[in-house]
Amino acid sequence: MKHDVEAFRRASAEASDWIARYLEDPARFRVNPAIRPGELFDRLPGEGPDAGEPLEVILADFERLILPAVTHWNHPRFFNYFACTASVPGVVAEMLAASMNTNGLNWVASPAVTELEQVALGWLRQWLGLSADYFGQIFDTASVSTLHAVMAAREWVDPEVRLNGITKPLVIYSSDQAHSSIDKAAVAAGIGLRNIRKIPSDDEFRMKPDALREAMAADAAANLTPCCVIVTAGTTSTTSVDPLEPVLDIAAAHNAWVHIDAAYAGAAAILPEFAWMLKGNERAHSLVMNPHKWLFTPMDCSAFYTRHPDVLRRTFTITPEYLKTTTDPREVSLMDYGVALGRRFRSLKLWYVLRYFGRDKLRELIRGHIAMAQELAGWIASDPRFELAAPSPFSAVCFRLRDSEERTRALVSAINATGAFFISQTVLKGRYAARVAIGNQATTIEDIRALWAEIQRLATLL
Ligand code: PLP
Repeated sequence: MKHDVEAFRRASAEASDWIARYLEDPARFRVNPAIRPGELFDRLPGEGPDAGEPLEVILADFERLILPAVTHWNHPRFFNYFACTASVPGVVAEMLAASMNTNGLNWVASPAVTELEQVALGWLRQWLGLSADYFGQIFDTASVSTLHAVMAAREWVDPEVRLNGITKPLVIYSSDQAHSSIDKAAVAAGIGLRNIRKIPSDDEFRMKPDALREAMAADAAANLTPCCVIVTAGTTSTTSVDPLEPVLDIAAAHNAWVHIDAAYAGAAAILPEFAWMLKGNERAHSLVMNPHKWLFTPMDCSAFYTRHPDVLRRTFTITPEYLKTTTDPREVSLMDYGVALGRRFRSLKLWYVLRYFGRDKLRELIRGHIAMAQELAGWIASDPRFELAAPSPFSAVCFRLRDSEERTRALVSAINATGAFFISQTVLKGRYAARVAIGNQATTIEDIRALWAEIQRLATLL
């Protein structure tokens, strides 16, 4: 059956018009939907249609039924989790990639997917200041990137693991502030939650190197194998940065793999003033940063780099007859570097984003977000009712009302109930804190002023 390209022309014109209006003014919508669990489910038919429906009708139902259940991550007043952006070049590239549906499982399957991924990640590697021997590939999420780091680390300390599975107890280390994706990686890689050491962090939420040294030494003395240390550059709660260079020295004494989780704050490394954050990366083994967090690229795009691609290849190469290809030395088969066989054309959107903005504009946007966060932190610090709950090195601010944890909780709920702003919460050293993360392209200082005015108003009312 031929494609109905006339229907496509009409529907895509309507959809792109909708997208343009959306990007122009997403603030028409509540940032978080006013909806109860199950409500959308109950409003949709339990069975799919026997007869097909026109695209116009489906679009109308998208607006009527689906949109009211959407949380608008592309909204300038989205300050929850890590705020992010689907920018114009990224949206256009996603449309093109969807139309071709090309799958770069190996080079022959789609040379462009394989080679553009290397080119775009090569540019990004240079902008991040990573050493030239980092090999990159794109996964869907940082969680999957970190899982690959942990699986590579298993192979690094035990080259028989691919054949035998884990035969000796392996241990991984992160700070007590590290992301839960590390725990999931330990589960998925068969290492086990019991074998993660959550190293205490200091007053500024950074891993304490002395505590790491002691933990690794104790494990080695107990005949356990220190396998992998995960250093976070930009923790999820406070965006603190673990001290990379001391950790590298300590891990080297045990020949452990060092993985840098820069999923969010890695984007700031393209600013010369933040190059310190990844200093020493030429001695680490792998790194993840998510262009889909703070580099204006739509979900999903997680850049995973390793200086030891040979270890990934050793871990994952399995080539049945139907996947055999040529033996040209320049041919890269990305299926050999990870779990997945199929590979979406994610590099297209990253390439579009990097070209459309260029490094200068990206730097300007990121600096702008950091400046807005610093302004907000300043306003909070100068209001005696509030206190900052942590330093704000990047674009996230944690704070609380001084007098009561309960009132801070109520404040977060009240802000989110307005539907005008969406912020998050965390617990720092046992104490509750509100958290605002800035990272959407369209956010301006007016949005931050409006948020601060609302925080102050509600703090007076509560
Ligand atoms: N690492 C850090 C530091 C994060 O903040 C997050 C998510 O916010 C992740 C990893 C997981 O990211 P993803 O959702 O891409 O798996």
